[in-house]
Parts: sequence; structure tokens; C-alpha cells
Amino acid sequence: MSKAYTVLFVIGYILAVGLMALGAIFLMAAPAVEATFVSNLVIGLVMLAAGVVIIVGLRLRQRVVVEAKVTLKPTQMREFKCKNCSAALSEKDYTIAKNGTVIVKCTYCGALYEMVDNPIW
Ligand SMILES: [Zn+2]
Repeated sequence: MSKAYTVLFVIGYILAVGLMALGAIFLMAAPAVEATFVSNLVIGLVMLAAGVVIIVGLRLRQRVVVEAKVTLKPTQMREFKCKNCSAALSEKDYTIAKNGTVIVKCTYCGALYEMVDNPIW
């Protein structure tokens, strides 16, 4: 997630929460003044709905960003090479162990590797 996007995301959330808070105030205050009851009710509901729409929109965008990262991963994996024989390793050489670590087995020389958080190869 880029820095500019994160700032936009936070501003969007603050806007949405502010809108919903205002909408709630309008809804709570509406019964107090009978003359403006309906209009205050409508304004409150519209503000609440706008806040919900903004949050849903932000969530959907966030999901798209995550999906883009996942689809990029196999491309990055193909660039890895076996430390032992320098053979190119493809994603089918990767298996995920029960404890969650990624095990890499070179199909050419049989060398086994355990993926760490910051692989240096
Ligand atoms: Zn190898």
C-alpha cells in the first residue's frame, strides 16, 4: 500500500465516521423538534448511508490491492534459484509445511530449503 493511498484511506475513514456520527446526531435530535422531524430524519439517514457507502467502497478497494499482491507472488518466485546448483525454482517446487513455513525442494539436485521472512537468495 503506497503512502499516498494510506493517507486517502485514513481521510476516507474519518469522513465516513464523521458523516455517520452526524447522521446519528440528526436521528437522535429529530424527535425533539416536531416541525423538522421528517427532514432531520431524512438528513440523518442519508448521512448514515453515505458513511456506510464510503466504508464499503474503501473495503472493496483494499481487497483489490491484496489480490494484486497475491497474483504478483508467483512471478517473483520464478526468479529464485537453487543455492546448490543454481537451477531455476518454480512455484511447484514449493510446499507449505504444517507449521506454516514454506519448504522449497530443488527438483534438480534435491536440496531442501526453508523459506524465511527475508530470503537473501
Ligand atoms: Zn538444486
